[in-house]
Amino acid sequence: MISNNRLRIAMQKTGRLSDDSKDLLTRCGIKINLHKQKLIAFAENMPIDVMCVRDDDIPGLVMDKVVDIGIIGENVLEEEVLNRQVQLDNCSYTKLKRLDFGICRLSLAVPINIEYNNIHCLNHTRIATSYPHLLKRYCDKKKLTFKSCMLNGSVEVAPRAGLSDAICDLVSTGATLEANGLREVEVIFFSKACVICKTGFISLEKKNVIDKLMTRIQGVIKARE
Ligand code: ATP
Ligand code: ZN
Repeated sequence: MISNNRLRIAMQKTGRLSDDSKDLLTRCGIKINLHKQKLIAFAENMPIDVMCVRDDDIPGLVMDKVVDIGIIGENVLEEEVLNRQVQLDNCSYTKLKRLDFGICRLSLAVPINIEYNNIHCLNHTRIATSYPHLLKRYCDKKKLTFKSCMLNGSVEVAPRAGLSDAICDLVSTGATLEANGLREVEVIFFSKACVICKTGFISLEKKNVIDKLMTRIQGVIKARE
């Protein structure tokens, strides 16, 4: 494994967080040349390497200390924490900053034609989701029993396809739900993108780079408020 004193930052390669993450690092003055095919980009003007990966891999890379810093949605982060707690795996990290993008919520939604008064209408139903642990935590708290249908994509078509009675999926505007004949009935988790850092030993050189980076991120966000 390559080991040097350059700070390693993981961000999403392509998806809803990638443009905003890249824009944030650029506004912080980090000169990076991100290529579509390449996993890693070396900053020209600072001791920083940026790794572009699937968002789902970012929390684990930080918790396993493979990278120093990650830019990730709190939804994916919290799901990985719960997953690792079940597996009795290390799930430590430090949240350095909540960011001003990637704003969404994880919500329960049901077909518009079903009667829904409260969450107990979903007792013993099957719920499709990509976030089984966050869903279970919420349902346990509400004393709701449910069957899950784990899907990594196309969750919103599950009820129409006869795979589930309801869904638990990310929502920002609600347009996708509406287009699929679904109604948002319960928000189970509010999420934003955030900056996380690995725990444990970090060299003084890297600590200084992290401090500089966080001061600049703070400045970029303040300027946008
Ligand atoms: P990857 O290929 O990296 O696994 P993905 O398809 O799992 O990507 P995206 O759809 O790109 O993920 O979403 C990445 C993150 O963007 C989400 O986990 C969430 O934090 C945030 N996000 C913001 N708004 C939305 C939205 N309307 N729907 C889905 N995710 C959103
Ligand atoms: Zn993903």
